[in-house]
Amino acid sequence: MRLIVLGLLFCHFCQQGLAQPNVMFLTPFETDPNYSAPYERTISYYRELAEAFPELEMREYGKTDSGQPLHLMILSIDQDFEAASIHAKDKTILMINNAIHPGEPCGVDASMMFLRDLLLDDAKQQYLENLVIIVIPFYNISGGLNRGAYSRANQEGPAEHGFRGNARNYDLNRDFIKCDTRNAQTFNQIFQEWEPHVFIDNHTSNGADYQYTLTLIPTQKDKLQEPLASLLVGDMLPDLYAKMQETPWEMIPYVYARTTPDEGIAGFLDLPRYSSGYTALHHTIGFMPETHMLKPFEDRVWSVYQFMDQMVVYLAEKGGAVRNAKRLAINQTKAASIIELNWKLDFSKIDSILFKGFEAGYKPSAISGLDRLYYDRAKPYEKTIPFFNTYTATLSVEKPKAYVIPQAYTEVIERLQWNGVELTRINESKELDLEFYYIRSFETVDQPYEGHYLHSKVEVEKVRRIQKVYPGDYLVETGQASDLYIVSVLEPQGPDSYFAWNFFDGILMQKEYFSDYVFEDLAAEMLEKDPELKKAFENARKENPEMAESARAQLDWIYKHSPYYEPTYQLYPVGRMVK
Ligand SMILES: [Zn+2]
Repeated sequence: MRLIVLGLLFCHFCQQGLAQPNVMFLTPFETDPNYSAPYERTISYYRELAEAFPELEMREYGKTDSGQPLHLMILSIDQDFEAASIHAKDKTILMINNAIHPGEPCGVDASMMFLRDLLLDDAKQQYLENLVIIVIPFYNISGGLNRGAYSRANQEGPAEHGFRGNARNYDLNRDFIKCDTRNAQTFNQIFQEWEPHVFIDNHTSNGADYQYTLTLIPTQKDKLQEPLASLLVGDMLPDLYAKMQETPWEMIPYVYARTTPDEGIAGFLDLPRYSSGYTALHHTIGFMPETHMLKPFEDRVWSVYQFMDQMVVYLAEKGGAVRNAKRLAINQTKAASIIELNWKLDFSKIDSILFKGFEAGYKPSAISGLDRLYYDRAKPYEKTIPFFNTYTATLSVEKPKAYVIPQAYTEVIERLQWNGVELTRINESKELDLEFYYIRSFETVDQPYEGHYLHSKVEVEKVRRIQKVYPGDYLVETGQASDLYIVSVLEPQGPDSYFAWNFFDGILMQKEYFSDYVFEDLAAEMLEKDPELKKAFENARKENPEMAESARAQLDWIYKHSPYYEPTYQLYPVGRMVK
């Protein structure tokens, strides 16, 4: 059904080269360009839009932390709203997420106008023949309800906006793997149902000042499997940057700089905890457009609108190549024997980029009297700056044939299920010959990070053990479409593994000890009966003067080398079945 467009001729729209807005479905932003639609108004707008257009469906998914359901808008021109059926027709699916940080709401207002215009503008219908667009109108609902004018100290509007933390003060853009929030749990499941080919998560940046309104974080290319990486770098990004250059909103890579941009900017390593890093684990190219906080809200909204518009044009033309690349990347990962888990920026690989900035300088601060940084907007420049965007793998593991997970770890098991991982229940008690890791060392943050004492720099020792498994334990065979996710979360050394996020902290505490005065006699007896043990003990004492001076340390050494010492201490309980 097409509605008659009752256009209002706003000069602004002419300037943007955009369709004129429809008076029937005018968004609040269009009547006040420094106003962002609150949560309730966003949802009621979409509800009305979906009632007017059969090509748009509004769907409710599971609850969020503040009790409301998570809404998903589905724009499907042939009115097929079932993910499986859309995939069977080999259509491209673009997913857009808004208000993960409700203080950065450009995408909320841009998406409302964007979907409306796609429905109303006949010229745009051609783009939707093989493309279905799904939109989360408002992801961090509780953060959006916590509305005010002050939580973004250095941002040009909107007049009111939501707060970054959700109902439990979590940052949803760190929660995609650990899924503390119901929002993230629901998101995981939506993502698995829809398996989008491309994902956009709309943000506003903090940081340096420069001329651009829109910057872009794509999934870090070196984390993507081929041929997705080549498609992204070789075609998609050049095309999108070129297309945006023809609009008023020329785009630049996200300005990720240690000092001022003059000295160079770097690609962002989007680990799996972040949205685009999470989608990359499922071979979905992710983008975080970051609008510049010092540009007016109105411009930021239109720049995001244009980015989504150009993405639609790209996908209408080249969706087939994206779908094919995703299929090939999945097959390649299924067959891969080595999986990379962590990376570091290679400063020796320097690219360059033409950058339009403002001259930076230092002057005495009116507050401290000390030097302060400032950018001089009266002195714009255009020059080539270094761009560091090559990451090299620092950690890779051999993919096992399967993982074996004790049923006790229900939180891990349900997260795997939300992510579409196939788990096989073991139905009889048996002994399996498996590889295990002992966690030998790790570092932990001093203060809680996103509700956890995150571990990092995990060092392990691999051992082979005969392990008894019981009915109800789980076997996770690899060779699945979700292999990258499986290995990333189950290998304890991964920066976003479930070990790193504290799901296995129980193993890090020794449960039984010994009483010195009782163990003395037993220890003496053991050394007497076992000359090899005695020799090793004497050597340890020689090599370690501190031990030689401590009666307790010497007993402890013997205890740890005795059958009384618990073998499960620091034993990571997920087994690896290898060939
Ligand atoms: Zn953000």
